[in-house]
Amino acid sequence: MKCPSDGTQLARIQLEQVAIDKCHQCDGIWLDHSELNQLRNSSQPGLEEDIEEEYGNPVTQPGSIDGHMRCPVCQDVGLVGRHISYFKPVKVDGCPKCLGMWLDDQELDALLEDKQEMNEELHSPGVMDFVKFVAGMLPKRPR
Ligand SMILES: [Zn+2]
Ligand SMILES: [Zn+2]
Repeated sequence: MKCPSDGTQLARIQLEQVAIDKCHQCDGIWLDHSELNQLRNSSQPGLEEDIEEEYGNPVTQPGSIDGHMRCPVCQDVGLVGRHISYFKPVKVDGCPKCLGMWLDDQELDALLEDKQEMNEELHSPGVMDFVKFVAGMLPKRPR
């Protein structure tokens, strides 16, 4: 696969249990449809730092190629900007056909942070108290 941004051959790298395609030229990452969820379920923010430590952190010029990228898998399909999030919207370039997505530098971490915030919110004591409170309001089952 070629980088949709600069045409560099993407390198297959292993992130946690997930093999993803990364451009060493612009630091972008291509994720297939299922790979984002796998990463979000198994990873913490800071993953990009780990990648950069291992593979370097090229200087990028964001914004220069917006709107002209094509899906590296489908090739004839243009990527469209869309926002995905649990809490904070993160704009990524997604393929409407195969549902893969291209993440620019920092966007993967933004997505992982977003997921972590949601988890913290769900597991915070306040939320659990509320859940127990609501559960306590429910009619008891007859024994
Ligand atoms: Zn690239
Ligand atoms: Zn595609």
